[in-house]
Amino acid sequence: MAEEKFPPVEVQREPDSAPLAGLNRYATVRAVQEALVQLRNVTKIYRHGEIDVTALNNVSLDIAAGEFVALMGPSGSGKSTLLHIVAGVDRPTSGQCLVQGLDIGTLSETALATWRNQHIGFVFQTFNLIPVLTAFENVELPLLLTGLSARERRVHVTAALELVGLADRMRHLPRQLSGGQEQRVAIARALVTDPTLIIADEPTGNLDAHSATEVLTLLQQLNQTIGKTIIMVTHDPRAAGYAQRIVHLEKGELLNGTGEPRS
Ligand code: ADP
Ligand code: MG
Repeated sequence: MAEEKFPPVEVQREPDSAPLAGLNRYATVRAVQEALVQLRNVTKIYRHGEIDVTALNNVSLDIAAGEFVALMGPSGSGKSTLLHIVAGVDRPTSGQCLVQGLDIGTLSETALATWRNQHIGFVFQTFNLIPVLTAFENVELPLLLTGLSARERRVHVTAALELVGLADRMRHLPRQLSGGQEQRVAIARALVTDPTLIIADEPTGNLDAHSATEVLTLLQQLNQTIGKTIIMVTHDPRAAGYAQRIVHLEKGELLNGTGEPRS
C-alpha cells in the first residue's frame, strides 16, 4: 500500500487511573475523524475572457471519515468543480480545502500530484478504462507509480478485483464486459491504492437501471464493509438514496444547512 504520508495524530494518553481517560481519548479521535474533509468558504471563479463565472460561492462543508455523501444539483451548479477541488485537480480562488488537516491548496503542483495518487480514487461517468488493456492491467495502472514489485502489485490488483466481484474477469478487455462491469473495474482501479477518499462524478450516468443498481450497491458495500469515504455526484434521486447524506448545490451555493456531517 502507498506509504502513509500523514502520521496519525498523537493522542495523549492519560494515566490509567484518570477518570474518563478512555472517553477523552475517544473524543479526540472522533474530532479528528469528523474533519476528514473541510471546505472553508471555498469560492471558485473561472474567467472566460472578460466574463467571470462563479462556479462555487463561499461553500463550507465538512465530511467525516467513513461517510458516503451524495452531491446533487442542476447542471452547472458547481458539483464537478467541488469534486475537483476536493480531489486536488483544481484549486479554490479563495478559501481552503483541508483533507486530514492538510490545506491541499498550499501544495506545489508536483506535491499535489503525488498527494492525489496516494489519497484520491476517482471514478468517472465514462469509466475511462484503457481499451487495449485487460481488467487486471487497468486496475494495475495506478500501482505502476508506486514502488511495489510485480508480485505485490498482483496481490493488490487481485484483492481489488475480488472486492468488486470481478476476480473471474481479470483477463477480459473492457469491450468484453458489460457497462456495469466496466464501471466496477474502474472502481477497483480507484480502490487499489487504498485511497483516503473515493470521488465519483455521475458514476451511473452512462448506465442502464440494472447496471446502475449494481454499481450503487457496490459503492454502498465498500462504504459499509471497509469504511471507505465516498463523495458521489449524481442527478438521480434514486442514486442519491444509496448515500448516507445528501448535499444540494444550486448556482454554486450549498442549500439546506450547514454542511455538517450527519451524526
Ligand atoms: P456541474 O458539475 O454541477 O454541472 P460544473 O462544476 O461543471 O457544474 O460547472 C459550474 C460552472 O463553472 C458552470 O457555469 C461551468 O460552465 C463553469 N466551469 C466549470 N469548469 C470550468 C472550466 N474549467 N473553465 C471555465 N468554466 C468552467
Ligand atoms: Mg459535472
